[in-house]
Amino acid sequence: MAATTVPIRTALIEAEHVSKSFPSADGSTLHVLDDVSVTLHEGEVVALLGKSGSGKSTLLRTIAGLIAPTSGDIRYRGTPLNGANPGTAMVFQSFALMPWLSVQDNVELGLRAAGVPEKERRQRALDAIDQIGLDGFESAYPRELSGGMRQRVGFARALVLQPDVLLMDEPFSALDVLTSENLRGELISLWAQPDFPTKCICIVTHNIEEAVLLADRVLVLGSNPGHIKAEVPILLPRPRDRRSPTFEAAVDRLYAILTGRDEKSAAERAATPGPLTHPLPDASVGGLAGLVEIVYAHDGQSDLPDLADELSFEVDDLLPLVDAARMLGLLEVEGAQAFLTEVGRAWYTADIQRSKEMFAGLAVEHAPLVKTIVKALENSNDGALRDDFFRDLLRRGYNAEDTEKQLDIAIDWGRYGELFDYDANTGELVLSEVAAALTSTLMDGDAEG
Ligand code: ADP
Ligand code: MG
Repeated sequence: MAATTVPIRTALIEAEHVSKSFPSADGSTLHVLDDVSVTLHEGEVVALLGKSGSGKSTLLRTIAGLIAPTSGDIRYRGTPLNGANPGTAMVFQSFALMPWLSVQDNVELGLRAAGVPEKERRQRALDAIDQIGLDGFESAYPRELSGGMRQRVGFARALVLQPDVLLMDEPFSALDVLTSENLRGELISLWAQPDFPTKCICIVTHNIEEAVLLADRVLVLGSNPGHIKAEVPILLPRPRDRRSPTFEAAVDRLYAILTGRDEKSAAERAATPGPLTHPLPDASVGGLAGLVEIVYAHDGQSDLPDLADELSFEVDDLLPLVDAARMLGLLEVEGAQAFLTEVGRAWYTADIQRSKEMFAGLAVEHAPLVKTIVKALENSNDGALRDDFFRDLLRRGYNAEDTEKQLDIAIDWGRYGELFDYDANTGELVLSEVAAALTSTLMDGDAEG
């Protein structure tokens, strides 16, 4: 017997050294993907897991041939792409249906584009509609359907093409919990059918449990710019039980990787952290206080996935809060465990005025954008600056939406710590006296004596 035979997995799609940049409004460049290599094989479900903004959608669109990489190659069955990838079909988070077309016509759209004759088109669409449980809704319009039904149309429209590789961009994240769980189950059953024509599924998600539920292999993307941080095989048999210890262990492991520091940012950390390299996590002071309070109530130590469960959050909903708490030194994370630091404990147990002062100190020390704002205000003539000044600075590293978000977070943090005040009507940020006193002690050398 040839005991040495190793099954060779057929590569369907190879992305090699893919980088992608976008020009931003002011002429600078936004690096979204950095040297990403991914191979999708026959017979596997691959999840691309990453935080919001890590470039997941960009990577998936590049694989689909909807956008071209800035550098690097994408091949489908060995042939470099020249435009749309003929071996793929895509399911979008937003469903992306044509509102003026019936279910039947929406599903037929791709076949029409491919020049499939009408009779065959009709029949294939009917089969796909049937397969995905939309039987009887052929002549309905998207607006007449629930979100779950609309996404079924999104599925049917992709499946009717019988793609080698089904690409899905957060297909369940716009749906309620029950509906998304049903659809996930149906996707798993379709995949298990021996005659299912699709040979590979690649699903983008920011949901750790979804990745563990569906994937044979999880590629974790790190951010700024997007890169592959880790690859984790999920060897659990199907159907998978979310409550099993092995399932939970896989969730914990991915959680640790996702929250863990990666080499990229280690290199970045060597440089002075700035508002463009170290974005503020999207967390309000109220949210931070809530998290710290809960960990405190758990004797200063919590398992994050358990905590998320308790609060009926998806485990990744906690990530920005956890990131913010770590940035400020309130929590430490080891694996999937969060620990309250001494500082965190002191902050939580202090009276309100003291806790504001502490927060001001931590924010100026650890939150680069807050520090930048305080320094700029100090250096201005009258301790006041328009928000547009900071907006322009942020635009060099963020898109319009993220710029606003960063500014909102910094203002929330700064106001809570009474470092500065903000008048939304005039758009003016004004330094407080507290800040002036505080920063002269913290920013050694920077402040005048
Ligand atoms: P994810 O899907 O992981 O949330 P995306 O791939 O959508 O991330 O986006 C990653 C980054 O690239 C974001 O900062 C986003 O604003 C930026 N980006 C995505 N598409 C474009 C584009 N067409 N032009 C400019 N910036 C873009
Ligand atoms: Mg996305």
